[in-house]
Parts: sequence; structure tokens; C-alpha cells
Amino acid sequence: MRYRIPNNSQLKLYKFREGLPYFFDTGEIIVLTNDAGDFHTVSPGEFYKLLKGEIKEDSSLGKILTEKNLFPGRIDKDQMAIWLARKMKFLNAGPNLHIVIPTLRCNQQCLYCHASRRDESRTGFDMTEDTAKKVVDTIFDTTSPQITIEFQGGEPLINFEIVRFIIEYALEKNKEIQKELYFSVVTNLSKIDEKKMKYLLDRSVLFCTSLDGPQKIHDANRPFSKNSSYRETIKWMTRINNEYKKRGFDTNIYHVDALMTTTRQSLGHAKEIVDEYVKHGIKVIHVRPLNPLGFASKTWSKIGYTTDEFLKFYFEILDYVIELNLKGVEIQERTAALFIIKMITDRDPNFLDLRSPCGAGIGQMAYNYDGKIFTCDEARMMHEMGEDLFLLGSAGKDLYVDLVGSPITRSILVASLLDAYPYCQGCAFKPYCGICPIINYMEQGDIFGSMEHSSKCRINKAILGYLFNKMHNISNEMLQIFKKWSIFRSRE
Ligand code: SF4
Ligand code: SF4
Repeated sequence: MRYRIPNNSQLKLYKFREGLPYFFDTGEIIVLTNDAGDFHTVSPGEFYKLLKGEIKEDSSLGKILTEKNLFPGRIDKDQMAIWLARKMKFLNAGPNLHIVIPTLRCNQQCLYCHASRRDESRTGFDMTEDTAKKVVDTIFDTTSPQITIEFQGGEPLINFEIVRFIIEYALEKNKEIQKELYFSVVTNLSKIDEKKMKYLLDRSVLFCTSLDGPQKIHDANRPFSKNSSYRETIKWMTRINNEYKKRGFDTNIYHVDALMTTTRQSLGHAKEIVDEYVKHGIKVIHVRPLNPLGFASKTWSKIGYTTDEFLKFYFEILDYVIELNLKGVEIQERTAALFIIKMITDRDPNFLDLRSPCGAGIGQMAYNYDGKIFTCDEARMMHEMGEDLFLLGSAGKDLYVDLVGSPITRSILVASLLDAYPYCQGCAFKPYCGICPIINYMEQGDIFGSMEHSSKCRINKAILGYLFNKMHNISNEMLQIFKKWSIFRSRE
């Protein structure tokens, strides 16, 4: 690994002064940014000259900085406001992602399960048709012109009849309301069969599953008494992807997405994990750190690790992913790709945890099996752990306007607004960053965490520092790779 992971106290944040861009010292280069997310990287020597006023506007560096709206004393706020408004137009839309839990029951016992699943044999944890109808009615009250209904769990396909009911009822309702309507299902793929697959593909439902790496790692993380969870996942992932191809879907959009959750078992196996993804033709690996939610809070001593250990592992993955790209292999790491979209394009990648404010209640809502509504799925997970701080109301009882406008939604939004944090106000990474009040609450007991002690701040800062180092004097080949990672493909 070539990139040195700095700790929070080594990262130098410069206080914003009127008329100056933000500065960030990665230890190797200086990153200059403005509120709209324009950036340029300079050497420490150039930076020193810039601060002393020795860089003239008509010099080659001066011209670049002026063009990027970064030249000290010449920052055009009106131009910045136009760009910012374009990037933040999601603020006017309303929730478009609606996470529905048809059941909390699951047939696997993943060591890190964030969802506090219940055993498959239990009763009383399934959504009823009556509740499902009220949930869909609430979803369609959204002001967003686009709706994605995402089934999560538990294992949602255990309650397949309710999944089917929700899809059919939503499609019927949409004949009149005419929104852009999409469905996706997050599933371990062990409860699917040919009939269910056909039904879901006929309705263009997107699949997302978990793949933690080669069989040894995956099965250790995701014990399954009946079979190897790895074998089930690979069997159905291959089957569904072949079916998408056979039906003529654009496989850049329609394929089984996979999430990779990092546990202690993963550390030291970065290359094998990436190779596993490449072997199955998966083009995106989303490396996620563990969060202390659900079972993971109880099994932490067995599967957890420090932020430093995670970052070391993450950069081993990212270095290898880039090495493969340079050899022509098509694979990207999702978190890095999300940051790159924010860095080199003028659009928001619609990833609700990397926004300021975040998507809680205004970009997404989560509906539990019993109809209770939360700002997001993590808030619902907190409820399953006995914490009701983020409960907004219930489907069929509370009005959309009261859910979105609730003091709970407002508090989370303020607590995820980077400008509300003195530590973030001078940070050059603010235009690309996002923080999570629920993780703050879990780690520090307060939705307004201290960013100096936040693992999420540390991870974001380290990844952004790595990416900006790559951007410095970037080769055309590398830039083309990053551009490829930032391509947007519409499901239409
Ligand atoms: S949370 Fe993000 S914006 Fe705030 S200091 Fe950390 S990296 Fe910078
Ligand atoms: S509170 Fe956290 S998990 Fe929920 S939407 Fe905001 S960032 Fe995401």
C-alpha cells in the first residue's frame, strides 16, 4: 500500500477565511476546494507561494485556479451558488427510496446481521396484507416523482406473498398516479425458486445480495444450517444474471448487485475477495465496514476490528482494484466511485448517507413489518435494539406531511448537516462528505457527534485523501478509469 493513513490529529484542516478556498494537507499534496466541490491539487511549495501572494492570476497555475473558481480573493460566490443549487436539487424532491420489511424472519444466522432478524420458525414478525396496503398508500403520498420500493428483512422472500401483494398493489395504484416506479429486493437468495425468479424478473425487479468473498470467508460470516450459504448465493446469482442476459436486459444495469461486509475474517484477504468478484463477472465491489448495530454489537469481540485495520484492508482492496483496471479488468469499488462522481461530475450520486443533510426522512423512509415508519433502515434497526428515538409514526395513522416534517426528521437532518459542525466548517472535503447521526449516536451517545472522534469522518477523510493524491498529476489512463466509474446509467 502506497498511501499513508493519517490519523485525525495529523490531518490539517484550515479555517475558512473570506475569499479563500478550503485547504487540506494530505501529507504529500495540498487539496484546494470550494463549496461547490471544484478542486485543484498543488504541491506544498506552490501552496506556500499562493499563501504569500506570489502566484499571479495570469501565471499558468493562476489561470487554472481562476478557471476553477479557486483563486484566493477572486472566488465568485454567485457562480458557486448556481452549481450548488444544481447539485442539491434533491432537497426539493421528497423521499424516493422506500425500504419495506415484509418479515423480520430469516433462515440464516449472519454474525454481523444489522437487522436483528428473528428465527424462521417464529410467528408475529410478518407484515399482513392490511398493513402492506397502508404502507403502499403512505409511500404514494410522497412528493417525489420517482419511487423505489426496496424489500429488505429478515429475508424478504420468506414472506413472498406480501412482496407480490405490494408489487401488484403499487403497480395498480401507479396506473393513475403515474410516477417512475421501481422495485428491488435485498435477499440472501436461498429462498428463491424458478417461479419466484420469473415473477420478479417479469416485473423488472433488481436483485441485491451479499458476497463476502471466497467460500471460506462467506460461509464463516453467514452460517446456514441447511447448506453452504456461498453455494446458494453463487448458484442463484449466476442463474439470474443468465436470465437477464437471455431476456435482453442491459446487463450494465440489470445484474445481481453484491455487498461485501468486512469482518475480522476478511482482513488479510483483500486480493482473494476481489478475485472472487471478478471470477463471477461482478463489476462493482462495495466494501462496507461493520456498524455496531443488531447482532454485530453483540459479536463485536469476535468479528470487529479497529478503524485503522479497516482502512488498511480497504486500501489493499482499492490498490488492487486500480491495478486490475490498469490491466483492462472492469471492476470498481463503490465508495470510491461515489466520491469520484461527486468530485468530477456535477451530479449527486443519490447515495443518501453521503449527503449533507443526509437522506433521513427526506430521501428515504423505512417501513417495519408492523407498519411502523422510521427515517431510514438504520433507524429501524435501532428500534429493534430497543431504541425508539427515530420512530416517526405508523402507516395508516400518520400523514405524510407530519412524517416528513416531524421534529425527529428535522433533528436528524440538522445533525447530518456538515455546516452545523465547527470541525467540518473548514474542511476541504465537506463538498463530498456525509455523516450519519445514527452512527454518531451508537458511537458517542449523541446524534451530534464529535467529528474528531468519529470513525466515519476518519474513513471518509482517509479515502478522499487517497483519491485526491491519485488526482494529483493524474495520467490520462487513470483519469479515463475514474471517468468510467462515474458513468450514470438510467434504469429507463
Ligand atoms: S466529517 Fe467529513 S467534512 Fe467533517 S471533518 Fe470529517 S471529512 Fe471533513
Ligand atoms: S441517519 Fe444515517 S443511515 Fe439514516 S439516512 Fe442519515 S446517514 Fe443514512
